[in-house]
Amino acid sequence: MNPEPTVLLLPGDGVGQEVIPAAAEVLIALLPHVRLQQAEAGWACFQKHGSALPPQTLALAREADAILFGATQSPMGGAPGYSSPILTLRKELDLFANLRPARSLPGLSPRFDLLIVRENSEGLYSGRERPIEDGFVAERIVTARASRRIARVACEQALRLATRSGRRPHLTIVHKANVLKRSDGLFREQCLAVAAAYPDIRVDELLVDTAAMWLARDPGRFQVIVTSNLFGDILSDLAAGLAGGLGLAPSANIGDAQSALFEPVHGSAPDIAGRGVANPLAALRSVVMLLRHWQRDAEAANLEAAIERVLREGPHTPDLGGDATTEQVTHAVKTLALG
Ligand code: ATP
Repeated sequence: MNPEPTVLLLPGDGVGQEVIPAAAEVLIALLPHVRLQQAEAGWACFQKHGSALPPQTLALAREADAILFGATQSPMGGAPGYSSPILTLRKELDLFANLRPARSLPGLSPRFDLLIVRENSEGLYSGRERPIEDGFVAERIVTARASRRIARVACEQALRLATRSGRRPHLTIVHKANVLKRSDGLFREQCLAVAAAYPDIRVDELLVDTAAMWLARDPGRFQVIVTSNLFGDILSDLAAGLAGGLGLAPSANIGDAQSALFEPVHGSAPDIAGRGVANPLAALRSVVMLLRHWQRDAEAANLEAAIERVLREGPHTPDLGGDATTEQVTHAVKTLALG
């Protein structure tokens, strides 16, 4: 690991401009040797420079040890030449695994602490749509290589999570192989083959519809779920809803290379942007994921405990029923994390 790692801040649009500075403030307080850089991306950037992800931003992203990404606003109905910076970054940096943890709010039941490992590079997000008579066909791509590599990430994450929780590692493979016999059949078969090399992990499988039902009814039965792109997108928002909403949900995008991108799941939230009341906890939890990715487990545990305490005792932003500002919540978390 680089002794002075660089973190590139890409606040983007809307509340990204509020929660990423908060995340940077806490990160630098915990790891003062980190070098912070900042660059432009998103809709405002597109309007200014004609590109949502200018070449200099992409170059800095390639060199950084990690990226903290806020949110970007997509123009309604699209705009000629505009393409989503996050999709481009995932592709260009080959960040094929999207990690989305969700845990129950302190003191509330049902209790759960789970991780959805979503395949990020193919599935229905191939971007290949072609016209047919009276409609369009969207290609859903499943390859053995991408299925194996996402299964490997999920198994490694299951082991890491189990070490922290003291539970036996448990992996659930989620698919729709009864209908998508060949494509999801391949995904299922490759995941099972990879998981067979991890005898300590209890492995089971569920059809995606059954998985959605069990997530809503008894999320505590899950530890790590591995699934394809669209199913992961939907299930992780369901899990985020159970876990207290978008203001709390973090995510990481990782690949085989060192660099990784961390982002709150929420968007630019134009309805509350600019008022200083965005919940910074999803962005701060994304910092916890960054710290864990760098194996700074002590700092990650301190920050996580600080966030849990603020969730229990306040202060809370309006989305959680409070009247605190982004700045007040950030300050409370930082003070507790520095202990
Ligand atoms: P976008 O087009 O950028 O995805 P959106 O409004 O469709 O924007 P989100 O930005 O995710 O989607 O917002 C969905 C809802 O959740 C909004 O009501 C928003 O105010 C709320 N929300 C999102 N992020 C936060 C946050 N950090 N704190 C508080 N509320 C939030």
